[in-house]
Amino acid sequence: MRAHALIFLGAPGAGKGTQAREVARHFTIPQVSTGDILREAVKRQTPLGLAAKAKMEAGALVPDEVVCGIVEERIDETDCQKGFILDGFPRTIAQAQFVDRMLQAKGRGLPQVLDIEVDEDLLLKRLTGRRTCSVCGEIYNVHFNPPKAEGICDKDGGKLLYRADDNEQTIRQRLEAYHKQTSALIEFYRAQGVLHEVEGNNDPAAIAKGLLEFLSQA
Ligand code: ADP
Repeated sequence: MRAHALIFLGAPGAGKGTQAREVARHFTIPQVSTGDILREAVKRQTPLGLAAKAKMEAGALVPDEVVCGIVEERIDETDCQKGFILDGFPRTIAQAQFVDRMLQAKGRGLPQVLDIEVDEDLLLKRLTGRRTCSVCGEIYNVHFNPPKAEGICDKDGGKLLYRADDNEQTIRQRLEAYHKQTSALIEFYRAQGVLHEVEGNNDPAAIAKGLLEFLSQA
């Protein structure tokens, strides 16, 4: 892995979180997921969580200054010193410019960006079928990757939960937010010459294998 920061881009349901997790494990660097951090804050009812909850439930983006603050704080922790993965961030041009400034201030080069591309009908199936283990965070899908026993994690017997924003109306809003605000980042990073496009319609293990091969050479 060449760059200090690796960014995963892609529509909701593209598999950013799943792939980021594999890559983070492989290179033993932290996965910084703004979605996970925000969901945890909502669960704990912190001021951040209370501010973000309504936006998330509506499928809208949380304001830039809020998420930029979260990322800046997280990146300053010592485990991020040898590199990190951003998953779900940046999502707007302003956030991408923030990343550039942050990396520059730390004397790091440009990020390396992986854009996972998935057809829209498949995105919908992935999002409506997604279930997450309440204990270990393992992700299942009732259509493609069901657990052995319904509603229960294969690994630790934890209860599988829906994400609050994985209902049809919110999913539609999230996809709209992606098309309106986030998809422009593809051109932003292509212009910087740091974009790598990944075919995301395959099964997760095949995508991970290709990604790790690419990152080991790049
Ligand atoms: P997905 O990519 O599947 O939609 P995430 O877990 O990345 O899911 O994000 C869930 C929600 O958290 C988003 O719909 C949004 O409300 C909020 N969120 C996460 N990351 C950001 C971000 N970088 N900027 C603004 N809002 C964000």
